[in-house]
Amino acid sequence: MLEIRNVNTFYGETQALFDVSLDVGAGEVLAVLGANGVGKTTAIRTILGLTPARSGEIRFDGTDITRLNTHDIARRGVGWVPDDRRIFPTLSVAQNLAIARKTTRFRSWRLDEMFEIFSALEHLMGRDAENLSGGEMQMVAISRALLGSPGLVLFDEPSQGLAPKIVQDVMKTIRRLKNEGLSVLVVEQNALAALEVADRAVVLDRGRVVHRGTAAELIRDENLRRNLIGI
Ligand code: ATP
Repeated sequence: MLEIRNVNTFYGETQALFDVSLDVGAGEVLAVLGANGVGKTTAIRTILGLTPARSGEIRFDGTDITRLNTHDIARRGVGWVPDDRRIFPTLSVAQNLAIARKTTRFRSWRLDEMFEIFSALEHLMGRDAENLSGGEMQMVAISRALLGSPGLVLFDEPSQGLAPKIVQDVMKTIRRLKNEGLSVLVVEQNALAALEVADRAVVLDRGRVVHRGTAAELIRDENLRRNLIGI
């Protein structure tokens, strides 16, 4: 579904990603792990064309999207749950969700399905988004991504700032998306939470992929885990 080949990304003169290659198959969850500042968010920004790759190739659903703009990439079915949620604060929850609707070649989601996944959401619809808690905002951000009918959802640090119970709910939602056949790339510093739902994992260090393997292997192999991600 997503193939990234030898991607190099720069902020001005500073290189943030070095020859990064990774794949997310259809219906697969890939965890991208690593410490603060190793390039996880940059990987997502590069896929979305927000900080385009200077070289290398990114293919989504069989199409080269490396040089497309962010709007076109989203229109083809790449969904995004940003780390800072980016909900419009002066709009209601309902308005935030209404403007997210898109039709793609992938499965479209109905609002009542969102209410079934997030039972609290229905009661929040009339609320101004600026009055939401962190967990409520995350629900809106995930629902917004799904209403855009994605084939692939990019989660940037979905556990950030959330209580452990809500982190578990978010991870359960990621599992549900996988069961529905969606592909997911989840960037996380909370490696253990992400590994619980991931099929495979890559570890980044200073902008390079330093490990790729199954999530099960990283969960099982304490030494490997300690060496790679320090836990
Ligand atoms: P975090 O968990 O803090 O988001 P990360 O693994 O996502 O970390 P990135 O945010 O992708 O890492 O940052 C990778 C490198 O690129 C870092 O050295 C960072 O300082 C640098 N960087 C990130 N954004 C910019 C920017 N807008 N301008 C210049 N350098 C940047």
